[in-house]
Amino acid sequence: MDDITRTAPAPWPEPVTIDKADPRYPDLAGRGINARFPAAPAAIGLPATPRHVAELVADAVSAGRRLAVRSGGHCFESLVDHPELDVVIDLSEMKAVGWDPEHRAFAVEPGASLGAMYRTLFLGWGVAVPAGRCPEIGVGGHVPGGGGGALSRRYGLSVDHLYGVQVVVADGSGRARLVTATREPGDPNRDLWWAHTGGGAGAFGVVTRYLFRSPDGDGRLLPPAPAAVTKKTVRWSWDDLDEARFVALVRAFGLWHERNSAPGDPGAQLDNSLTLPRAGGGEVTLETAFDAGRPDAAELADALIADLGRAAGSSPEVAAETRSFLAAVLVPDEFAGVKGRFKSKAAFLRSCWEEDVVARLYRRLTDQAGYQNPAAAFYLLSHGGAINAVGQEETAMAHRDAVLKAYGSVFWWDPREDETHLGWIRDTYRELFADAGGVPDPDRGYGGAFVNYADADFADPELNRSGVPWHRLYFRGNYARLQEVKGRWDPGEVFRHALSVRPPGA
Ligand SMILES: Cc1cc2nc3c(=O)[nH]c(=O)nc-3n(C[C@H](O)[C@H](O)[C@H](O)COP(=O)(O)OP(=O)(O)OC[C@H]3O[C@@H](n4cnc5c(N)ncnc54)[C@H](O)[C@@H]3O)c2cc1C
Repeated sequence: MDDITRTAPAPWPEPVTIDKADPRYPDLAGRGINARFPAAPAAIGLPATPRHVAELVADAVSAGRRLAVRSGGHCFESLVDHPELDVVIDLSEMKAVGWDPEHRAFAVEPGASLGAMYRTLFLGWGVAVPAGRCPEIGVGGHVPGGGGGALSRRYGLSVDHLYGVQVVVADGSGRARLVTATREPGDPNRDLWWAHTGGGAGAFGVVTRYLFRSPDGDGRLLPPAPAAVTKKTVRWSWDDLDEARFVALVRAFGLWHERNSAPGDPGAQLDNSLTLPRAGGGEVTLETAFDAGRPDAAELADALIADLGRAAGSSPEVAAETRSFLAAVLVPDEFAGVKGRFKSKAAFLRSCWEEDVVARLYRRLTDQAGYQNPAAAFYLLSHGGAINAVGQEETAMAHRDAVLKAYGSVFWWDPREDETHLGWIRDTYRELFADAGGVPDPDRGYGGAFVNYADADFADPELNRSGVPWHRLYFRGNYARLQEVKGRWDPGEVFRHALSVRPPGA
């Protein structure tokens, strides 16, 4: 096993194991954010070091117990909280962020939140890993899916700056060992690094450390973080939007992204979102955020706002707010600390939705007769820019040609209403992608789906009747290569869930 040098002593010398009778159990078992998936593992392992992780994995395998790993608990689906799982290895106490002199890279442990990573890298070095918009997400589950957010159109995805990973893997006989895998061309474990650049979390082993350094040649260790971020917000009342205006507004947003999302395009300085809530659940809202020190970006944002105002036939007041970098990225998610039931469905869009598709969305959002929940919304989020400067096969994250992410989400409390809310979001999504069998088929003009927004519907033959396999949506042409990596590093499928890469032939 590779040696790991810790800067602080481990809080406990041996892995802590907690069973259901232990008073610590409820705090740890209940960490997943989706109340649809109650947790009841027989035991929770709490490691403090990579050696602890290896011991917990080896113990579970030798006892024939099925295991899963948890870092930040932000999984959308039951990939961790699943009734068939016996052991959850909870990495929340492995959360150091620092500098690794041996690899000349920033080392981030999986239990660190994105917020903690942003904070330490910014305060210590003035840099940032481009990562997600919600500071409570765990680095552990975020990065292997690609990882990205507000800085990504300028600087790419988290995995575009991933130098290496340290992973506890289990061989066919269940023996667990710690492996370091880097992107160095001569590294014999390079395939394992590659699998962690978009092959999805929880599929190859337990990551105990991420190593970040931008690819050699760009002259810096990681992208610089801006000193401050300006966000401009415009809200359109549903009273001012009939179907034609709604369609024009959404199309203007999409077409702007078609024109302004090539790598290096000046428009890639803007990170935009268009929130399309159900009528009665809020206003249609444009947010555009950019480096406050860039007047050229401010001009582009104003032009975008004017464009959308013209399309919508009205130009509501613009609210502008400038926050320091940390204040901007550490804003808690609106659902932080709220554990309700939700279902999300998402897709990459290579071009703007056609008018008839947006009109269908308008009808789904405004139909008050068929469905009553105000806590349901669709969002269009910027993609492209620097993300699309990377080749589809350079990393396992294959979505390098989209300009937008479409994201739909519905939230509720009462389990008796599950069918109603699941039905609404599934039917809406199916209608939006009706010309491609109900899914964002990469072979029919769409961009596939984002494995970080886990959606097990794609792997359910009852719910995905498109003929497009779930892995084609998530990994596109990279799946066969991911399967080879799986075959080499986890042939016994110790790490498996509904959306994990299968070994070749499986
Ligand atoms: C409110 C919200 C906002 C989001 N915003 C964004 C965003 O802006 N950009 C984006 O890219 N994604 C976003 N996501 C998705 C998020 O990145 C994924 O849900 C991610 O997998 C969460 O990681 P976690 O560690 O918090 O979750 P967990 O529930 O702990 O784990 C999720 C998955 O990762 C696996 N895993 C966790 N830790 C490890 C590890 N150390 N080694 C191996 N496998 C591991 C788990 O087994 C599970 O399969 C968002 C999610 C939410 C809920």
